[in-house]
Amino acid sequence: MARIAYVNGCYLPIDAPAIQIEDRGFQFSDGVYEVWLVRDGQFLDHAGHLERLKRSLGELRIDLPMSDAALDVALRETLRRNRLGDALVYLQVTRGAARRDHAFPLKPVRPTIVITVRPAPRAPLAARAETGIGVITANDIRWKRCDIKSISLLPNVLAKQAAREAGAFEAWLINADGEVTEGSSSNAWIVTGEGALVTRPAGDDILNGITRQRIIRIAAAQGLRLEERAFTVEEALSAREAFISSATSMVMPVVSIDGRPVANGAPGSLAGALRESYEAGEQA
Ligand code: PMP
Repeated sequence: MARIAYVNGCYLPIDAPAIQIEDRGFQFSDGVYEVWLVRDGQFLDHAGHLERLKRSLGELRIDLPMSDAALDVALRETLRRNRLGDALVYLQVTRGAARRDHAFPLKPVRPTIVITVRPAPRAPLAARAETGIGVITANDIRWKRCDIKSISLLPNVLAKQAAREAGAFEAWLINADGEVTEGSSSNAWIVTGEGALVTRPAGDDILNGITRQRIIRIAAAQGLRLEERAFTVEEALSAREAFISSATSMVMPVVSIDGRPVANGAPGSLAGALRESYEAGEQA
């Protein structure tokens, strides 16, 4: 079945020529995005992703020309037209099309809104969680506003490609202080020998993952110890467990870093339990 995309109010085949040449998303990466995991037709953490979208848009001073209700209808209708129950829904909003000039258009233009959907079957994700993933490390060469979910992802793209070429699944980004900030498309976590969950505090050097926020709520509800602080690769290598979180991967155990095993090199039990809680839709 042909994939259907939403573009500025129209539902079109995904390969339709629908975006203008001078769209500022295309020319300047002047836009933001969100990704929802959908399970059995339900958008996970729907409100959290919408809230972050608005924050990102606000930081870039892009006005969404749509009410929440209308956007919600568009998201659900795009999903419905693609006839998928388990899916990833991608939403991108750019500042719109205008004659190329770095500064914002003098006369405001209508933002470009695109929604696409792709299948996200459960089995491959579950299989990956069974074996765990390897990560490599890469220098964090990104800008200083990683809290904005910007479509400007070149450093992330290069880091992920380096991971692929090394036979790893993700790249952990390392800042000038030798700390792990986050993954190229995920947040990074470890579990200490004492059983405490550790993840970097939200700030302008990471994206505050919606999955990250839900794990924090689950941890609180389950009485787990949480430490929002920086950690290094050395600490991760001597940790009891490591994992990543994102809407796409949910909770995914990390079993090696740069080819060196984390703990005994097998997926950790806490990551597995958090993954189950997450899938079960547990909320605090
Ligand atoms: N950090 C980065 C850089 C990301 O791209 C993502 C995924 N979009 C995340 C963290 C995880 O965010 P979320 O849990 O909201 O998917």
